Amino acid sequence: MLFKTRGVVTKTVNYGEGDKIITLLTDTHGKIQAMARGARRTKSKLIAGTQLFCYGEFLLYKGKSWYYIDQVEIDNTFYKLRNDLIRLSFGTYFIELINEITQPELAPGNLFDLAVQTLETLSDETTDPELILRAAEIKALAYSGFRPQLRRCANCGRPGEMVAFSPSAGGVICRECRDSGLYGYSISSQALKIMDLMLRWDLDKLKCLKLDLELYKELEKVMRAYVAAHIEKDFVSNRFIDSIKKIK
Ligand SMILES: [Zn+2]
Repeated sequence: MLFKTRGVVTKTVNYGEGDKIITLLTDTHGKIQAMARGARRTKSKLIAGTQLFCYGEFLLYKGKSWYYIDQVEIDNTFYKLRNDLIRLSFGTYFIELINEITQPELAPGNLFDLAVQTLETLSDETTDPELILRAAEIKALAYSGFRPQLRRCANCGRPGEMVAFSPSAGGVICRECRDSGLYGYSISSQALKIMDLMLRWDLDKLKCLKLDLELYKELEKVMRAYVAAHIEKDFVSNRFIDSIKKIK
């Protein structure tokens, strides 16, 4: 039986002679895998709609082991992401992260709208891509159950002055906990303030912030460690990002 759902393409794999298997984050069925028959053939009406990042309304039906794509009504292919290596690499990392943290056949809640908004904002050339990526990353983690604790010690629960960020404890830690041997990255109060804003403000409001390079470096280091502590995956796209940053 055919049904319609909004979806974002989070992964594509070529299959057979001219087919593609795509992973789709849908707003109704969570993450699903769908076969796009003939999608690599030049005359296929599925070519554009089955590319990575594509967002639209998908007409699907369920077969024995796959979903099959019948039609795609494209809302946005986010083609502007492909005009800029940094934006493209950030978009690729973000969509890889989304693909990793969403569950099959489970409604994705806020993560779906976050995915669409992030791709929209990242492909807008007037935004600061690094700011958008860090904000989207921390929000994605928060929506999937890993909201970092930023106000009280994540280890003992006490309020007061926080001296470090411990990825394994799940947030900031106090001096006593650190001195008792819990490992944490030193973090500035400014970085903590920005992380807190990133959790509370939406991307539209956040995109007006201006941060300096040192702060980005700090946020990147802490957030990568935080992602690594909670999500078991070696993100190939992060190595891509590092190699591009070296060239720049
Ligand atoms: Zn503590």
